Amino acid sequence: MASKNEFFLAYPPDGQETTSSSIFFLGVASSADPIYLNDKSINKTQQGYFAAKVPLILGPNKFKLKNQGQEKLVTVMRNRDQPEIPKDALFLVESLFPQVNVEIPFNELICFKAIAPEGATIVAKVNKKTIPLFWQANIKPLAANNSVLIDSSQPPASDSMTGSYRGCTNFAENEITQPTEITYELTFQGKKITQKSPGKLTITNSKSLQVIEISADQGITRTGPSTDYSRLTPLPKGTRATVTAKQGDWLRLEYGAWLKKDETKIIKNATPVNSIIKGVYSNRIPGGTEILFPLETPVPFSVKEDDRKFILTLYNTTAQTDIIRSDYDSFLKRIEWSQISPGTIEYIFRLNSKEQAGYSLKYEGNNLLLSLRHPVEPEQPNTLKGITILLDPGHGGKDTGATGPDGRHEKDLTLTIANLLKQELLDLGAIVQLTRSSDIYVSLEERVKLIEQIQPNISISLHYNSLPDGGDPVKTMGVSSYWYHPQAEDLASFLENNIVRELKRKSYGVYWDNLALTRPTIAPSILLELGFLSNPEEFEWITNQQEQRKLARSIAHAIQDWFEQN
Ligand SMILES: [Zn+2]
Repeated sequence: MASKNEFFLAYPPDGQETTSSSIFFLGVASSADPIYLNDKSINKTQQGYFAAKVPLILGPNKFKLKNQGQEKLVTVMRNRDQPEIPKDALFLVESLFPQVNVEIPFNELICFKAIAPEGATIVAKVNKKTIPLFWQANIKPLAANNSVLIDSSQPPASDSMTGSYRGCTNFAENEITQPTEITYELTFQGKKITQKSPGKLTITNSKSLQVIEISADQGITRTGPSTDYSRLTPLPKGTRATVTAKQGDWLRLEYGAWLKKDETKIIKNATPVNSIIKGVYSNRIPGGTEILFPLETPVPFSVKEDDRKFILTLYNTTAQTDIIRSDYDSFLKRIEWSQISPGTIEYIFRLNSKEQAGYSLKYEGNNLLLSLRHPVEPEQPNTLKGITILLDPGHGGKDTGATGPDGRHEKDLTLTIANLLKQELLDLGAIVQLTRSSDIYVSLEERVKLIEQIQPNISISLHYNSLPDGGDPVKTMGVSSYWYHPQAEDLASFLENNIVRELKRKSYGVYWDNLALTRPTIAPSILLELGFLSNPEEFEWITNQQEQRKLARSIAHAIQDWFEQN
């Protein structure tokens, strides 16, 4: 942390590299003297905090900051965000499909791809087959996900086209039985080159389908074969599934989800996964309802939460159901089911209560066990007696989080607010657990495990925000909240609205966001970003001790109100 009257630049460090078209400066200057960025005076707050957004040209950008006769020189390097399309008879490096080995079933459409200059003639050759590729003028690259956070209602225009060529075909059974390279031929301005794809293609037949079992605690399923693709409902250890395609280290399961090979083990001599289901059992347990699905084999499934509904879909399953035992109560209104397509059954649990209070799904042998927690009420009005709240102070130890203009770290500010909030909640009678109570490193996995072990009634992760490159630190401020499962949306919106209204702060919004600390299902789990460390004005509010106490009190009372209104 910078001492008083010291000229300090928190961001960017000299030599910073970015692909963004702008960068921002953040620091603290002597409050008496003006601060200049490339000889232009910039605004600062009462305490001397300053921020400024500046455009960048491609290549090196030199900046000079001046305050109190001191100078700081900073060079920021702007790199291209996309590789340049060759202007000659060449393929763009790493543009030929496939880059990794691919296995696809016969009769399935497969698209060959290459990037090369416009006006080229390209074909892909596989064994004796020749597939022409066509220029895709309308396919444009998308902006990165985090551009949603940079004050823009429109997706940013991309700098360049992809120069993409594509051609699709399918193969008959036994047409390509051995892993085979694809040979690409490019003709451009009278020149002709050929190049082979690094990955090889195999067409699988109906007899060679593999069966896997999830060997990791959780199989993380996704919409495609890389971590860039969105998550789907994770599969617990023991789940079995049939593999229909492979791409590098990724497997595609029969119902369409992809997951990493190293989270699975191969089951030898197994036939494709299929199960019959007959009776389903529901039972009241302390604090919840348990539903048991006896299966012949542990099949994959997915979950969807809806208003007063919890929907569970079982894949590779066929119903022979004639009877369902249910102890309907104030929580569970009705269980419905339907075979929505061959091999897919959907169960709908209709709930009386508006709020869902968390759930877990696991395999015990071949039995799928769904536990739905019931909403709780404080034991006494105007208190939080009997309620367990988990607070997660973001970052810690070697993970410092974001940095404020004077060099103060997010990890220290989150611990301060967590301790203040803990005290307020204890005063209201709650049971409070912290994922860390000192400046230590705790991994995201450990934090999530703690939530699963403790099974709090709600979980709140506490953070302070900062902008990515490209954002405007002066214009961007406000408190925001994040949820992932619909069961957490109401809590996220409720706390956001309360803080903004009571403390007259700007709202940066309520977001659906796929974050480690919003993904737990056992309890409504949210994350709060309590203002921007990159906004000089908001940083004064964030670090003001009196305001910190007010914020903690406001959140604690909002939590109490939320439990009361439910
Ligand atoms: Zn953070």
